[in-house]
Amino acid sequence: MTYPAGIPSYLQADQLGPWGIYLQQVDRVIPYLGHLARWSETLKRPKRILIVDVPIHMDDGSVAHFEGYRVQHSTTRGPGKGGVRFHQDVTLSEVMALSAWMSIKNAAVNVPYGGAKGGIRVDPKTLSPGELERITRRYTSEIGIIIGPTKDIPAPDVNTNEQIMAWMMDTYSMNEGSTATGVVTGKPLALGGSLGRRDATGRGVFTVGVEAARHLGLEIAGSRVAVQGFGNVGGVAARLFAQAGARVVAVQDHGGTIYRDTGLDVPALLAHVAMTGTVAGFAQAEVMPSDHFWEVTCDIMIPAALETQITEHNAGRIKARMVIEGANGPTTPAADDILQARNILVVPDVIANAGGVTVSYFEWVQDFSSFFWSEDEINARLVRIIKEAFTSVWEVAQDKKVSLRTATFIVACSRILHARELRGLYP
Ligand code: GLU
Repeated sequence: MTYPAGIPSYLQADQLGPWGIYLQQVDRVIPYLGHLARWSETLKRPKRILIVDVPIHMDDGSVAHFEGYRVQHSTTRGPGKGGVRFHQDVTLSEVMALSAWMSIKNAAVNVPYGGAKGGIRVDPKTLSPGELERITRRYTSEIGIIIGPTKDIPAPDVNTNEQIMAWMMDTYSMNEGSTATGVVTGKPLALGGSLGRRDATGRGVFTVGVEAARHLGLEIAGSRVAVQGFGNVGGVAARLFAQAGARVVAVQDHGGTIYRDTGLDVPALLAHVAMTGTVAGFAQAEVMPSDHFWEVTCDIMIPAALETQITEHNAGRIKARMVIEGANGPTTPAADDILQARNILVVPDVIANAGGVTVSYFEWVQDFSSFFWSEDEINARLVRIIKEAFTSVWEVAQDKKVSLRTATFIVACSRILHARELRGLYP
């Protein structure tokens, strides 16, 4: 990767950090971009980065300050779009990478958005409900200068949910003086949310899984599935795979790793997690040391938690036939190469987990038209978009003899840079 002199320091990220990983992924695709490569530097520089101080009153009477971010990587194809995560390890490098992956994802499924992402460096489990509401509202107020229904539309991500979206919508609307439902997606149904949004990311993971399995000649019924992360993505995907007859043999989350060779009872596990917050302590399973998770004999492995989980240290031990990335950025480029050499298919995040933002797009369209669709209609449109996107990147991968990730980046980066070229530079 080469930079012209005078590159801003925050772009010179650690090669091993998420932004460094994203830059390596872009570098792999530049040779395939033809004349559009002239514009490729655009992809390596976020359009706009906002770092905010988020001070709140704590319940004990003190004032605490938190770091907040909103990065708009690209608004070339439409408004910024992407979630907000609350996590104690959030960094600028991470939010920059996540915002860039949103640009790629939105272009890959061809929804008319750029890419953005936000985050607050906080462990929300340590906050009371009142503190959580205050941090959400102050953060929204601080980023209010750059978000808006036609500017940048946040959504849920790790540790954020419908209630947090309701507070964000309300805070933005109070500052604007009118109710703006289209400023965030992933809202409660009663506030302009969409049917099907809650399950959309997991449903997209399942849909690409079925498509990829068909190409590999793998039957979903009877296949063995291992899932890391059992939240809104991993939990829903596990449920849908189990309903299709797959055996979910291993699940790992922040609390522990559990295993059952004949397949876990997924509905019972979902009920256990809803009660306790973790898969740990689930009675009908064996406990497994966390590192053994990657060695589980399975057909389909679904990392659906955080970034950089599959690295050069464990990629050689994975026994799956395919990896479907429910999380954003779970596989490093070095691990990608190992998996490719071992003939393990990786369905990349930017297509595998695009179901969430696809139904976010439906929600935004419904809010603008104030006309709401049925759940069947939403699911049918979602499945169609995801299948079409998967088929076109599969063909590019075959044609150019590249991985599905590089193929998806070729399709997405070409769309972004074609739009960039048409728009030109202003002034
Ligand atoms: N946070 C989700 C993602 O990473 C959804 C973003 C959205 O709906 O805007 O794709």
